[in-house]
Amino acid sequence: MPDAFLDFFSDTKTRPTPAMRAAMMAAEVGDEQKGEDPTVTRLCERVADMLGQEDAVLLPSGTMCNQIALAVHCRPGDEVICDQSSHIINSEGGGPAALAGVMLRGLPGKRGIFGAADVTGAIQPESRYRPRPRLLCVEQTSNFGGGSIWPLETVRQVTATAKAGGLVTHLDGARLFNAVVASGVSARDYAETFDSAWVDLTKGLGGPVGAVLAGPRDFIREAWRLKQRLGGAMRQAGFLAAAGLHALDHHVARLAEDHANARALAAGLAQLPGIRLADDRIETNIVFFDVAGAGYSAVDFVAAAKAKGLGAGAFGPSLVRMITHLDVSADDVRRALEIIASLRK
Ligand SMILES: *Cc1c(COP(=O)(O)O)cnc(C)c1O
Repeated sequence: MPDAFLDFFSDTKTRPTPAMRAAMMAAEVGDEQKGEDPTVTRLCERVADMLGQEDAVLLPSGTMCNQIALAVHCRPGDEVICDQSSHIINSEGGGPAALAGVMLRGLPGKRGIFGAADVTGAIQPESRYRPRPRLLCVEQTSNFGGGSIWPLETVRQVTATAKAGGLVTHLDGARLFNAVVASGVSARDYAETFDSAWVDLTKGLGGPVGAVLAGPRDFIREAWRLKQRLGGAMRQAGFLAAAGLHALDHHVARLAEDHANARALAAGLAQLPGIRLADDRIETNIVFFDVAGAGYSAVDFVAAAKAKGLGAGAFGPSLVRMITHLDVSADDVRRALEIIASLRK
């Protein structure tokens, strides 16, 4: 791919900055699966503290954070309640069925967000006919909800309702810091009411590998057993943790730029005939739009954009997603809009 390629497919497309690479090179490392990597330990302590949790473990990916959390919280046959658009249901390779052996109940939220009444409705009276409702999951921000932010009040209401109904709760915080920067609510406020929570180092934070799963000490002890079992235990992972620590120091506040760029992108798209925004409320860094009116399927639109040097994602028959991040500038947004304007049939 030429360097000039504008990759808006995802905020996972970032490459480590020179300063991040320098921090990685300088990392003090050890055998992390023996607890001997001081940089990994520092990152885990820092994330646990930021999320208002007792302890944390570094994992190779956010997907593994979700899958391990499901397996620690649930027994096979248990039911997990989450929004029907959630990453856990749609984008983890069937892991919940294959690994934890759980049932998934997808709630019909709006923009990926449901309310306490939906949770109450999903928790039916105890019956041996039904799967045992066990775990409630929230995704902050909601990816397929268009980067929408769960209001703190809603988070508190759904977690309280779940707990009152005997469920435990889990936060998929792949883009938690986008919500933090956009709303001014702290990560701790968003995360502390959950029984487990994680953040991704490789989305808006711009790290190359890894995610950190946090929770109570006994939960993390069990998560470690599964990390070992799945082959997620690493060795000198401090190189990766150093990237994460650097990101927490330098790449959180700047997420506001990604949000401004996403708003500019959406405003530009809204001006183009044939393009319809899925939602004109752009809260963070994700923009979904429909290209049917421009005479394209999503797949053909994405292929045509790619041929002109622009990366985007197809997420439905005519739905396209673009995400802003550390490696795309305001000027890149202008160039992306020019390319899209030139695609009109
Ligand atoms: C990306 C993503 C994940 C998975 O994270 P990986 O690090 O890519 O495995 C989980 N949940 C959401 C909401 C995501 O956007």
